[in-house]
Amino acid sequence: ADEARYALDNLADRTAELFHPTLRIGVTGLSRAGKTVFITALVHNLLHGGRLPLLNAQAEGRIGRTYLEEQPDDAVPRFQYEEHVRTILEDRQWPQSTRAISELRLTIEFQSASGWSRLFSAGRISLDIVDYPGEWLLDLPLLDKDFAAFSQESLERASLPQRSAIASPFLEMMRQIDLAAPADEVTSQRLSASFADYLRRCREDDAALSTLAPGRFLMPGDLEGSPALTFAPLPVTPGAEYPKNSFAAVHARRYEAYKTVVVKPFFREHFARLDRQILLVDAMQAINAGPDAVRDLETALTDILTCFRPGRASWLGGLLTRRVDRLLVAATKADHLHRESHRRMEAIVRRLVNSAVQRAQFSGAQTEVIAMAAVRATREASVEDHGERLPVIVGTPLMGERIAGKLFDGETETAIFPGDLPKDPAALLAAGDEALASMAPLTFVRFKPPRLEKDESGLTLSLPHIRLDRALQFLIGDRLA
Ligand code: GDP
Repeated sequence: ADEARYALDNLADRTAELFHPTLRIGVTGLSRAGKTVFITALVHNLLHGGRLPLLNAQAEGRIGRTYLEEQPDDAVPRFQYEEHVRTILEDRQWPQSTRAISELRLTIEFQSASGWSRLFSAGRISLDIVDYPGEWLLDLPLLDKDFAAFSQESLERASLPQRSAIASPFLEMMRQIDLAAPADEVTSQRLSASFADYLRRCREDDAALSTLAPGRFLMPGDLEGSPALTFAPLPVTPGAEYPKNSFAAVHARRYEAYKTVVVKPFFREHFARLDRQILLVDAMQAINAGPDAVRDLETALTDILTCFRPGRASWLGGLLTRRVDRLLVAATKADHLHRESHRRMEAIVRRLVNSAVQRAQFSGAQTEVIAMAAVRATREASVEDHGERLPVIVGTPLMGERIAGKLFDGETETAIFPGDLPKDPAALLAAGDEALASMAPLTFVRFKPPRLEKDESGLTLSLPHIRLDRALQFLIGDRLA
């Protein structure tokens, strides 16, 4: 049934495509990686003829009209572009982050680069931009696991040194549960809430962990409070039979429901229909939190990337007939670093996704890793310090940010030496924990979004960025040729 429904969706997409060329672009990344900011900046720059010299069609003056249109899927929330732009430009604040899936259609009219196709007609392509939490992709491995296996893995993870303190309230509550006793709803809810709370706290700044399935416990979308989201791992014995309506049986049933009504529909209805994908990664946060967080990020990224090239024999592998043919991994918020560190950041992220990306390339997808800032909130400068030239970034920290004890009011510009990323990150990461642990922490504060900037001609105003145009050229450039 899954396959039949998917085949129908796919056929409908393909038929529509004949009359109206479209490209479905997935935008994902773990929470706060920068998805909302990326989509907002991308759309704003395309709509307003922003400075995008590395997007060939734009540089060659071949882009004509660009406009937003009704999105094709009526049941998916619309990406709140207008509101987000207003928040950035008028309030000078960052917009509300991604909480669930949303979609936006942007249509571009362009002239083809080759004179031959130009004879026939001007080109037109619609980008269907699909924004969804990367946490949801972490659920794919659950499809191959029953409740006992899921529980065992989750509980093992919860006992890892970097997690056990955070997990202890949940583990304690779980130990009180009599697996064979009749389940009562209040206890189930409390237990599940405590498990979700543990996962959420793993995400927070100090720990900054990333491998945290089930994904909807972090990003419930519109399913908060439903039975399919009200379960927790329990120390059940594999293969054992538990009385009907016991804690063990009820939680196992809800876990299965989670897979059927939450995980599978997402992969079938949304994920399996993507043509291109960008995965945003906030590596700085993990680097600052230390080696455990970096290793954890690596695991999460590998799990996420595996979704794009699942084994043929797996549920998703059997479903995917159309596959993402371009995959961009972008380290975001590069404006927090001086340009001299961008290459190093790229090298670190490349190292983190290395094995997974190689697998994707192996099966025919083009992949690229870049360091980028969808919105550049800082500028670069250098200061002299004891005869040494130090590269710094200059920006306005958000109100309430602190650097070395100094509290900022949201109006005061300041120069920051962001710190050095390791020179040879591949070797450094490979060398193990000590090198990574001994690194001085980066100075990382949140800056206020910038104002629109004039381009060289002085005529257009656009949102400043770093290499957003390179990301665009990779994602859509070939379709504007
Ligand atoms: P999402 O959860 O993936 O949708 O993340 P957001 O797009 O909401 O980004 C989370 C936060 O990261 C924002 O509130 C900003 O503080 C910061 N951020 C994201 N992208 C950029 C960027 O390009 N430059 C800067 N300076 N900050 C960014």
